[in-house]
Amino acid sequence: MTMACFTATFTSTIPLIAVTNSASHKPTRQAPSIVRTLRDTKSETDISCYASRAVQPSELNNGIKNFYDSSSGIWEDIWGEHMHHGYYESEVPLFKGSLSLHQDAQIKMIEEALAWARIPEDESGRPKSVVDIGCGIGGSARYLARKYGAKVHGITLSPRQVQRATEITAAEKFRNQVTFQVADALNQPFPDNEFDLVWSMESGEHMPDKKRFVSELARVAGRGGQILIVTWCHRELLPTETSLKQNEKELLDKICDAYYLPAWCSASRYIQLAEEFGLKEIKTADWSKFVAPFWPAVIGSAISLKGLSGLFKSGWTTIKGALAMALMVQGYRQGLIKYTLITARKP
Ligand code: SAH
Repeated sequence: MTMACFTATFTSTIPLIAVTNSASHKPTRQAPSIVRTLRDTKSETDISCYASRAVQPSELNNGIKNFYDSSSGIWEDIWGEHMHHGYYESEVPLFKGSLSLHQDAQIKMIEEALAWARIPEDESGRPKSVVDIGCGIGGSARYLARKYGAKVHGITLSPRQVQRATEITAAEKFRNQVTFQVADALNQPFPDNEFDLVWSMESGEHMPDKKRFVSELARVAGRGGQILIVTWCHRELLPTETSLKQNEKELLDKICDAYYLPAWCSASRYIQLAEEFGLKEIKTADWSKFVAPFWPAVIGSAISLKGLSGLFKSGWTTIKGALAMALMVQGYRQGLIKYTLITARKP
């Protein structure tokens, strides 16, 4: 890898932002907030490895489309309908824990994220219309439809995911309540002020332009609606730093390449953007320690007989993704990758 992921950074101090203290986060609904001064990499265009290689947005989207077209089948065969991290309340010894334990942890992630964002559950307050941005094969969309009785619409770049999401949804008799289409999160086919809940579970890391991403989320959220982003970020910079360390950039660059993650930013960049677009009640949390058992479990499943044969059938893009799994573990272990939640309300 010759090109660095991070081409342009400069620093700014963002004053007095309320950040949920991850260390004291319990899966209770009362996570305390602390006030910190954050220092962050900041760039008008977002820090981008693909931009540095002059990759056009259409080429990136095509890469993401092909990645999910080819890898979603094998993922579903092994893991099922949810394509995101699990939430674990306690440690799971390496390569231990049944698949169902990890699948339960994926459901728990959805529940814990909703609870953390304080999405109302009562009849009058709960979301009636939801958009699932980067919906995969619709696991969250159907879950939210079932939980809230809401109408849910999911978008993804992958036609194969839309097809599969639609099939599962029809089989579960949700056809009229939950729908899917191929569409770009940075150019959403929705009117302004449309949804009570804007849900983005692990798609933000694919967005080449975080500013455009947040602006679209804010645009389609209804007045009083809530936005919830669960995504992979890089760590905050220390007050003495102006960028990540060279070895950190190199690690992210390799992950960028395997998973089509064109622009990494920190949680505070999201907060800054949410403020810029006039969102209120902005809150963030670092849940890295609650997801630690996930990637070792994914590696374990990939080196099973089913995993290996599926990998070879799915082709090079998927194999490359599998090879990068150890890099994710490394990124979390060294505190470089942060599993981040951001929520905000549109006034
Ligand atoms: N949220 C799902 C899937 C996460 S995988 C789940 O939790 O199961 C990431 C998803 O983001 C894929 O469906 C991918 O197609 C989608 N995605 C990535 N970039 C996108 C973009 N620009 N517009 C729409 N969807 C995008």
